[in-house]
Amino acid sequence: MSTAPLDFGRPAPTVGRDLPTPSRALAIGAHPDDIEFGCGATLAKWAARGCEVSHLVCTDGSKGTWDRAQDPSELVVVRQREQRAAAAAVGGRGDVVFLGWTDGELESGLRQRWEVAYWIRRLQPTVVLGHDPWRRYRLHPDHRHAGLLAVEGVVAARDPLFFPEQELPHHRPAALLLFEADEPDHVEDAEGFAERKVAALLAHRSQLLSTMHIDEAGGAGEADRQRKAFEEQVLLELEEHGRLEGVAAGEAFKLIDEL
Ligand SMILES: [Zn+2]
Repeated sequence: MSTAPLDFGRPAPTVGRDLPTPSRALAIGAHPDDIEFGCGATLAKWAARGCEVSHLVCTDGSKGTWDRAQDPSELVVVRQREQRAAAAAVGGRGDVVFLGWTDGELESGLRQRWEVAYWIRRLQPTVVLGHDPWRRYRLHPDHRHAGLLAVEGVVAARDPLFFPEQELPHHRPAALLLFEADEPDHVEDAEGFAERKVAALLAHRSQLLSTMHIDEAGGAGEADRQRKAFEEQVLLELEEHGRLEGVAAGEAFKLIDEL
């Protein structure tokens, strides 16, 4: 029996570069800080060129600590403040929206899809960015569900008969960019925007220890060394992504533009 792969006559995937600067972009992440890791430099570049950048964070970030004595409701307030600071660091002039689902318990059900579609219709982004829900061996369920919500939210937002009670005009974005892509086929040139990405990430101060491995309690010299190591790691990833398209620094995505 033949095991030859089905041939649909598709060309081999090639990597493209740089969408036109959108007038509005909406980035959708599971937790505060995911958007900065996934597409912070791209958002900073577009913001610098006049794009109105909005952020939508699906969960409340209430589990983002190693400190068992931390009051989760206080952490939610802190993380919202940090996310706003991070959005400001990339130059985002749009909205910062928190859906507030419990960290670690996000689902991609109809209720959540309703909310994401609502914000897509309300903010009318030209480009939507989100986690790739189909990335293989992904462990964190919130990232997978947030990715599905970005994809399925776009579908619901574009078709007028979905959720008509929202009483908002339906909206079809021109492109969907999935970060942490399983099969990246698009690179945004990020040269000159690495610093902004790092600044936006470091705005998530409550995450310095658990996510960025910067221990400010360990003394100023040691914390400086760890901060430098974190910056170098971000720069290295930008270099690796950029190499896919021959640029010095980039962010790689799966591009879906048949919406
Ligand atoms: Zn996350």
